[in-house]
Amino acid sequence: MKKTIAIIGAMREEIAPLLESFGRYKSIDFGGNTYYQLEYKNYTIIIAYSKIGKIHAALTCSTMILHFNADCVIFTGVAGGLDSTLKIGDIVLATSLCQYDVDISAFGHPLGFIPESSIYINTNKELNDIVKKVAKENNLAIKEGIIASGDSFIFSNDKKKWIIDNFKACAVEMEGASIAVVASLLNVPFCVIRSISDGADDNANISFDEFLVNSASKSAKLVLSIIDNMPS
Ligand code: SAH
Repeated sequence: MKKTIAIIGAMREEIAPLLESFGRYKSIDFGGNTYYQLEYKNYTIIIAYSKIGKIHAALTCSTMILHFNADCVIFTGVAGGLDSTLKIGDIVLATSLCQYDVDISAFGHPLGFIPESSIYINTNKELNDIVKKVAKENNLAIKEGIIASGDSFIFSNDKKKWIIDNFKACAVEMEGASIAVVASLLNVPFCVIRSISDGADDNANISFDEFLVNSASKSAKLVLSIIDNMPS
């Protein structure tokens, strides 16, 4: 049976380079989003942008898996860099993801922890190995690390430091952890790839606007090479 690869971005700009590159696809409306479906080599590929934030991304990821029968999920997009070595355009591959905005510490739980779940959810090793192999072949340095997600655009040095101190994350964004929750609970391998658009610091909004398109297309380009390297 043909396998289905799901590719999710949060914003139109994050999937536009993929749609442009594939050229031909079928558009299917479902749950307030449009899903773009195409056949490529041995695969069915389904692409969508979820809209911003964890809830939208959770719906899109669930739809990809439960409605479109995705066998794996790749998230592509941009993120704010937390690690001081990261520059605009650098690629981050999530080793695990967490929700920095979950806080039930009033009951003695650690920040980011939900009972019967865990603070960090690991991404899939086999998929990550393909990402790393492809990046190496393309002379693309990638940083592996924890990505923290929450429903805020981080543009403050203080908040940035707080996320680093509490979650040891190297990048921050608004969707990845929800992909991690949904895909891991539904037993579907997933990975999260992000290119840095800003430094999550006091001028992150200016930087984001300037670099969104460029950084989004760097991440999308890597995803295209990854698909060409997926085992058939
Ligand atoms: N300019 C957009 C909003 C962008 S929100 C608008 O007006 O519609 C930022 C998006 O990029 C989110 O999808 C998030 O995942 C990612 N992102 C990039 N930098 C980020 C940061 N510093 N903090 C949080 N999310 C960030």
